[in-house]
Amino acid sequence: MHEFGIAETIVQTALDAARAHGAARVDVVRVRIGDLSGVVEEALRFAFESIADGTPAGGARLEIERAPVRCYCSSCGVEFATAPLDYQCPACGAISGDVRGGREMDLVSIEVS
Ligand SMILES: [Zn+2]
Repeated sequence: MHEFGIAETIVQTALDAARAHGAARVDVVRVRIGDLSGVVEEALRFAFESIADGTPAGGARLEIERAPVRCYCSSCGVEFATAPLDYQCPACGAISGDVRGGREMDLVSIEVS
């Protein structure tokens, strides 16, 4: 379950941010997860809550944004959003082998108080 490793990094980063700002607690943590990242949202929430519990990040709200898969069609010269395993260009029907987005696991922002 690699969600625990990811959650550990998120909580650690949030705690560092709180300390750097002289804040007592972490209120909100926002992350962006690509549809191809393999991260299971529920598992990440569970891991985040377990790890944050008893720290200044305990009770913080974890907001999860999804990032769709994005492919590039070289014939049309456009990037399109699609679903995992569906890499067909909506304009010309060609199958794109050029996946440009959807694997991200980014920490978007942290709110502390
Ligand atoms: Zn196309």
